Amino acid sequence: MVRENEIRQGEIAVEAPAARDAGLHFIGRIATPWTHRRQCPRQGRHDGPTCRIELFEPWDAALAGIERYRQLEILYWLDQSRRDLVLQSPADDGEVRGTFALRSPVRPNPIGTSIVLLVAREGASLLVRGLDCLDGTPLLDIKPDRSGFVPLAPPQPGDFQTGDGEP
Ligand code: SAM
Repeated sequence: MVRENEIRQGEIAVEAPAARDAGLHFIGRIATPWTHRRQCPRQGRHDGPTCRIELFEPWDAALAGIERYRQLEILYWLDQSRRDLVLQSPADDGEVRGTFALRSPVRPNPIGTSIVLLVAREGASLLVRGLDCLDGTPLLDIKPDRSGFVPLAPPQPGDFQTGDGEP
């Protein structure tokens, strides 16, 4: 269920420390068809509507070469989210999970990420499919999708291992 700003049964809010400026730049804005959170998809889909990512000057120059990628990772600031919940009830049914076990927009630093399909570049704008954010959401970063990159070196003995023994 889409959250406005309510606290639901079983949820816990904390008193967050005073905001410290991490020095983030909003490098652009994202234009989407959705003006209210209730309209947004929970996650973007590659067959969803085409959205426009507009880069501000001088960051538009950083788009050089982007056309060679079909999939991009977009990072954005979910600016209308509350930031103080550590336990959340996504279905508003009293069942709670920790914020870091969820992809909820409500988090101490409300960064959203989506893997999108690049449809076209129009100067300082990218047309993409696969977003799930409100019209006007601030843009934080754009990266080529990591699946297009291979590790620089194969895993070595002693490298960090996950619980199942795979590197
Ligand atoms: N795909 C991103 C992720 O996994 O990090 C975001 C997922 S989050 C579940 C998407 C939801 O965030 C939308 O359905 C909408 O309810 C909410 N949302 C979208 N834009 C927002 C904004 N600018 N501020 C606050 N909430 C927003």
